[in-house]
Amino acid sequence: HIRLSDDRNLKTRYEKLNKLGQGSFGIVYRVRNQDSKIFYAMKIITKKSGNKYKAFSLDNEVELLTQFNHSNLIQLYEVLESPQNLYLILELCEGGELGGYIKTNGPLPEETIKQIMTKSIDALHYLHTKDVAHRDLKLENILLKKTPTSNTDIFDIRITDFGLSSKKCITSTESLFHDHCGTPLYMAPEILENKDYSALCDVWAMGIIMYYLICAHYPYVADDEQRLLEIIRAKKLQFDSNEFRNLSSEGLDFLKELLLYNTDRRRAMGELIKHPWLTGRPDKELTKDIITQMKEFNAEVDQPQKKPEINLAGLINATANHLDPSTTVDDQSEVSSTMNTNDIQYPSNETKNNTNVLEKR
Ligand code: ATP
Repeated sequence: HIRLSDDRNLKTRYEKLNKLGQGSFGIVYRVRNQDSKIFYAMKIITKKSGNKYKAFSLDNEVELLTQFNHSNLIQLYEVLESPQNLYLILELCEGGELGGYIKTNGPLPEETIKQIMTKSIDALHYLHTKDVAHRDLKLENILLKKTPTSNTDIFDIRITDFGLSSKKCITSTESLFHDHCGTPLYMAPEILENKDYSALCDVWAMGIIMYYLICAHYPYVADDEQRLLEIIRAKKLQFDSNEFRNLSSEGLDFLKELLLYNTDRRRAMGELIKHPWLTGRPDKELTKDIITQMKEFNAEVDQPQKKPEINLAGLINATANHLDPSTTVDDQSEVSSTMNTNDIQYPSNETKNNTNVLEKR
């Protein structure tokens, strides 16, 4: 941690090159170390009141990053600080954001998705065993070390942006977090419900990411958090048989494990890493055809134990026109089991792929 007398001293250590990106709180530049000539990414966090630097201070991104040593977590090399700014010298990821790659190149083949999920789940398991929950996993926070030459190339990923990460995840399933944070489209239902929650919120976010890698759009899209929660509760998961036709039954089973509404049933990263889809060891129970599995997932009674506070009856009746209009919320398991893949809702073109529909944090 080097203290600079002012921002001009920076030039003696790093040559600032092109801008790589901008987040809500920091601009990121490609830089070259003046001595070693090695390229890095430099994230500049301005120390003005009300921003993430003030709110989370060095306890967070910087303190946490210095403790990690995993090949799929972004590496922090140096921290410089001037009276105005904080400069994080990070490992450079030339390939940019995974989300940007999908937007340009479309969905990925299953083997590539498996590769990305294996690396991510392994890195997050490592993070959780260090008592840290990421809490802001999204496609923009998975960077590619190099630009892949094709969809089947090696995707060397780095998980980044630990600004919202928190070090108090004693067991990954223990509910210790209270603050409402993250990016809405990736928020686990327990966060949307304003409940105490655990590092299992990272598992849900990885489910949203995996779904996006398969079909290049989000499973649940809404204009505000309350509506998003309603949609998740109503289980209108957008499985399009065409988009999912190439996914193996093991792959779909894995996705279902990640997107379990009920945290009592959602498994921790350490268990997920042993799933047959990732280990490659076949499981006889996972041999059902993909359409049967999709129907079963929609039919699964995986609702919270408590009756939802919002009125779902109107919502369900309004959207599932095949249903008996007399159906009530108490009949919800019955409702779900009558759904088939044709009843699944599809996002409109305007909302599809739009991460900015909702205000962040
Ligand atoms: P957020 O709004 O998500 O909190 P932030 O202010 O914390 O963002 P980052 O997400 O860390 O900022 O970085 C902003 C963008 O800069 C990234 O989305 C990415 O495009 C680019 N970027 C960040 N780190 C690197 C890196 N190590 N290598 C290459 N590009 C990077």
